[in-house]
Amino acid sequence: MAAPRRRPPRMLQVIETRDTSPHTRIITLGGAELEGFPEDCPGAHLKLFLPRHGQSDPVLPTVGPKGITWPAPHRRPIVRTYSVRRFDPLRCHLDIEFVLHPRSGPASDWARKARAGDRAGIAGPGGPHPMLPLAQHYLMVGDLSSLPAITALLENMESDTRARVLCEVPDDRGIRELECPPGVDVRWYVRRGPSPLPQIVEALPWPGAGTYAWIAGEHGAVVAIRDYLRETHGLGRDSMYAVPYWKAGLHEDAYHQERHRVMDELEAA
Ligand SMILES: Cc1cc2nc3c(=O)[nH]c(=O)nc-3n(C[C@H](O)[C@H](O)[C@H](O)COP(=O)(O)OP(=O)(O)OC[C@H]3O[C@@H](n4cnc5c(N)ncnc54)[C@H](O)[C@@H]3O)c2cc1C
Repeated sequence: MAAPRRRPPRMLQVIETRDTSPHTRIITLGGAELEGFPEDCPGAHLKLFLPRHGQSDPVLPTVGPKGITWPAPHRRPIVRTYSVRRFDPLRCHLDIEFVLHPRSGPASDWARKARAGDRAGIAGPGGPHPMLPLAQHYLMVGDLSSLPAITALLENMESDTRARVLCEVPDDRGIRELECPPGVDVRWYVRRGPSPLPQIVEALPWPGAGTYAWIAGEHGAVVAIRDYLRETHGLGRDSMYAVPYWKAGLHEDAYHQERHRVMDELEAA
């Protein structure tokens, strides 16, 4: 049987932008090319293609019988990874929530300046499917970069789901109400130095067998929590999603390969 053909990237345009806190902004993308985008993938991974400096629109890679063809290096789009915050199939609207982080990077800078009509490409969705396999209890840990995925997953949980969610924010203004079932306990932690999340996880009473851990955020915290859960509670790749979404001091192009090494370590465990 022939291998399924990869779908070409979709060119979309900004419909509207909305701040969810002083640190985060939802950008709604729309366009006819969203037709057929899957409805059942909250929190899934997306590749985002943005214009390079001096371009008004990104030049997207194309997909042919021999695979992907990228534009020449000086025309290649900026590529970053984001999450499906929400997809509205009726209006063909896709929400992506960006951290407007203080370090400045092409994606957060684009999100700061985005206006209705600006164009961006996406590929995906990808990542594990379903993002949260069935479990008796969930432990979800993240920071602002993974809050869009966490929020999307919480909004789509069954009403009897039991979960504990630990979110790190840079200050009180990042804390917000999350829509979730009554059995979900959401706790917020303001970061005032190194990430508090690894120590908080270590101090938690363990909910027991049948727990699925979903961990995403800054590299150092994700790796520390993953290693602790693996060594202390025996969680492996079937009972844990542990993906570093960014690394302090490294832009995405420099960090990309290291992230894949970290993810492979869990696969190999
Ligand atoms: C599967 C996956 C899903 C993701 N989903 C989302 C999402 O929905 N929303 C989202 O905002 N991010 C998400 N991220 C993280 C996002 O891809 C990175 O933060 C990315 O580096 C942002 O690109 P940039 O161009 O703004 O900065 P880069 O050019 O990559 O980096 C520039 C500088 O900013 C720093 N930096 C990067 N990200 C952050 C941050 N979040 N906080 C503080 N400093 C930072 C870098 O360390 C570097 O020093 C996801 C990542 C993955 C792998």
